[in-house]
Amino acid sequence: MSSKVRVRFAPSPTGPLHIGGVRTALFNYLFAKRLKGDFILRIEDTDQTRYVEGAEKYIIEALEWCGLPYDEGPGKNGGFGPYRQSERKHIYKEYAEELISKGHAYYAFDTSEELDGHRKDHEAKGKTFIYNWHNRLKLTNSLSLTPDQTKARLDAGEDYVIRFLTPQDQKLHLTDIIRGDIEIDTNILDDKVLFKSDGMPTYHLANIVDDHLMKITHVIRGEEWLPSLALHQMLYTSFNWETPQFAHLPLIMKPVGKGKLSKRDGDKLGFPVFPLSWNDSVGYREAGYFPESVVNFLALLGWNPGTEQELFNLQELIDQFSLERVHKSGARFDPDKTKWYNHQYLQQKPDSELASLFQPELIERGISEELVHLDYLEKVVCLIKERANFVSDFWELSDYFFEAPKTYEEKAVRKQWKEDTPKLMADLITVLESISDFSSENVENTVKQWITDKELSFGKVMPPLRLIIVGAMKGPHLFDILSMIGKDNSIGRIEKALSTL
Ligand code: GLU
Repeated sequence: MSSKVRVRFAPSPTGPLHIGGVRTALFNYLFAKRLKGDFILRIEDTDQTRYVEGAEKYIIEALEWCGLPYDEGPGKNGGFGPYRQSERKHIYKEYAEELISKGHAYYAFDTSEELDGHRKDHEAKGKTFIYNWHNRLKLTNSLSLTPDQTKARLDAGEDYVIRFLTPQDQKLHLTDIIRGDIEIDTNILDDKVLFKSDGMPTYHLANIVDDHLMKITHVIRGEEWLPSLALHQMLYTSFNWETPQFAHLPLIMKPVGKGKLSKRDGDKLGFPVFPLSWNDSVGYREAGYFPESVVNFLALLGWNPGTEQELFNLQELIDQFSLERVHKSGARFDPDKTKWYNHQYLQQKPDSELASLFQPELIERGISEELVHLDYLEKVVCLIKERANFVSDFWELSDYFFEAPKTYEEKAVRKQWKEDTPKLMADLITVLESISDFSSENVENTVKQWITDKELSFGKVMPPLRLIIVGAMKGPHLFDILSMIGKDNSIGRIEKALSTL
């Protein structure tokens, strides 16, 4: 294809974007950027009954947070706007009428009660009612009525829909970049409604009219739209328009068991399924994920680079992405892996940035001013981040840098606090008091020298000291901690332990 690549992400604002939707947006974005094309956001809001206030704003904010800006869309006109279908209402009717005049569509006057009746009759006989070649001439439409009867009904202002006249006895050859060739027998298809009695187009009509008018070259969307492909291709053919290329992305599956990951799974399974929070459902952003890790793990849900590489920044994804490497089968969602990704990105962040992210929590916890200075926090973060997946893990991993332990881990006390421990610790206070340069290295050398000179054992000094300073048998190199909290605090904590343990 010689024309400029143009793709669109076309969500319906019926609620928050599910991460599957974000993945669709991401794959569109990557595909467009790799081929120096345009990424368009189109809001498909023709179904007014499903419209949810705030959903469009949410979608835009989610794309922004993920770092996937659109080139054209609401608020960014690129010459093909408006980009909200509700603002394009006036466009669609003439296209539906064009199809009627070309003999590819027809008016249908059947009421919903009549159609319900047909459905029930069929069900009673163990059959399914489909509005198509099989029965369309027995129903109330411009094919079964005379032109005069049809005109009279239209003139009388009777409610009608416009249905597509699916050709009979044809084999359609569809092509999908990911799924290859698909053959469909038109006799199994129903005559879908293109235009509704409320004066609005259905998704099918609006979608292909807009893709045509917006010069979309590739339609990349979720697998749930694959069943619509036959109709869409027939519509392009009926209008005599060039058909874009299609790629239907694999579903994202639940972590265990069967079925696709649904919007409700998040609350049920305890991990976010939305990029940003929505009502009571916590989003990835609020759960403490970095957008880079969300983009990275989503990219690998359904696509693989063909190498062992797992960590990709956005530019690397753009450089390596191709639809040919997207697979057909569902991609199982692994919540532990998402944490692993966040862990990786957290390790890569500069300590100064992590310190700034940590600081507000400490202020909120009422930690004294001299301890929330960024240079102190940078040192703390550097010592503990290795064990953290999220900035929100920092406090639990580092509280002893900010305050003396309030309790001591019981099991450790039983194991480490021996009869001679108080005496050893009291002597250690004297040793620490004598140190003027309280650097980690110097404290370590002095304490070790004392242990050796007095022929003490390391096992009798170091574990109880850790228990006293940290409150538990965890944390980084103990002398680093002593040096960080300083001489007075170190001695103070030993004294406190001596009086309480
Ligand atoms: N409005 C549809 C949706 O909500 C778009 C499907 C398509 O991309 O064609 O997913």
